[in-house]
Amino acid sequence: MSASGAPDHATDVVVVGAGIVGTACAAAFAAAGASVRVIDRGPIGGGATAAGMGHLMVLDDAPAEFALTRRSCALWTELAPELPPRAEYSVPGTLWVATDAAEFDVARAKFARLKEVGIDAELLDGIALLDVEPALRPGLVGGLRLPTEAVVYPPVVARWLLDRAGILGGPSLVPARVARIEPGRVTLEDGSTLAAGIIVNAAGVDGGTLTPEITLRARKGHLMITDRYPGQLRHEVVELGYIKNAHSAALESVACNVQPRATGQWLVGSSRQFDVVDPGVEPRMLARIAARAVEFLPRLAHMNVVRAWTGLRAVSVDGLPIIGEHPTQRGVWLALGHEGLGVTTALATAELLVDLVERREPRVPAAAFDPARCVAARAS
Ligand SMILES: Cc1cc2nc3c(=O)[nH]c(=O)nc-3n(C[C@H](O)[C@H](O)[C@H](O)COP(=O)(O)OP(=O)(O)OC[C@H]3O[C@@H](n4cnc5c(N)ncnc54)[C@H](O)[C@@H]3O)c2cc1C
Repeated sequence: MSASGAPDHATDVVVVGAGIVGTACAAAFAAAGASVRVIDRGPIGGGATAAGMGHLMVLDDAPAEFALTRRSCALWTELAPELPPRAEYSVPGTLWVATDAAEFDVARAKFARLKEVGIDAELLDGIALLDVEPALRPGLVGGLRLPTEAVVYPPVVARWLLDRAGILGGPSLVPARVARIEPGRVTLEDGSTLAAGIIVNAAGVDGGTLTPEITLRARKGHLMITDRYPGQLRHEVVELGYIKNAHSAALESVACNVQPRATGQWLVGSSRQFDVVDPGVEPRMLARIAARAVEFLPRLAHMNVVRAWTGLRAVSVDGLPIIGEHPTQRGVWLALGHEGLGVTTALATAELLVDLVERREPRVPAAAFDPARCVAARAS
């Protein structure tokens, strides 16, 4: 492959960060024929990737987000037959639920946009909603069902991607903390350096410490998981208010998002807290999430919760991911700021990055993700 940096470096590509985004990038560069090294200070997929819900969803609120999530969901569907069983890939479908007429209008508009691009979707009234998902409380106005949307267990996929690319268990995986990224090389905490023509900063919420021109805000999320109650929930149930919360600038918000796991457990979320970096579980937030979820799925009130945890989403200035070459540091590429969609969009992010490096027409329009907008936004 053609590298944009000096051709005689020891490795073509160094990826910093072995979350789902970094491992997808590493796998994509390796598949394109590049020699790749991956550096992480902790376990593979141990950052936000281990904390997320792994819901693979198309979000259509902004055109760029719509294009990236659609392309990535298509790539996940292609990859699915190869994934190992422990990746827990399953297709429960998504049920967006409306509590009032205004939310049902949102569902209707979403339905029209999805149908226009050929995505399988069904608009349901309140009665039909209960038919497809009997765990919901009666009295909801209606909803939108996306029967082909899937879920996955992201840290297993991250490891598997490195394994398949021949990076796991060898010298190409470097367990170390990166202190500095600059064009052509990465400096580790012990002062040693790794050289490469292409360096990818995929360090999640800490990406801004390695590329300080980019501001990333942390958005903490809580999740909890129940005991096993097989067969009691069919879909990933998400209230339509979730979209409002995901895009809102409010410092703190909670929305119902409950996922059936292959084990029969219910994964219950979710919350968003801007600029909170303390990873501690806050009982107050768990109580808010549980109360909201029970409003939609009353039988949850009688279930045992066995574990709760938190994770930090990384948010750019405009909420869209940052994918592309650093505007002034040639050969430094960024794959950051994926907020609550990094699992969904990891595969398309990696594909886009390789397309850009190879100077190919990208399959997803790249302009909205250009890192230059974040550097400029910070300077202004
Ligand atoms: C509660 C919650 C629910 C979510 N649900 C979903 C969902 O349903 N669907 C979805 O698509 N997304 C979801 N997300 C978002 C998703 O989890 C993230 O967008 C995604 O995991 C980000 O992946 P990443 O690889 O960019 O970051 P990370 O997984 O955080 O990986 C970054 C890696 O970089 C390493 N690193 C950082 N700094 C250094 C350094 N200096 N030196 C060496 N290594 C370093 C870290 O150790 C880490 O392993 C959710 C997130 C949360 C918190």
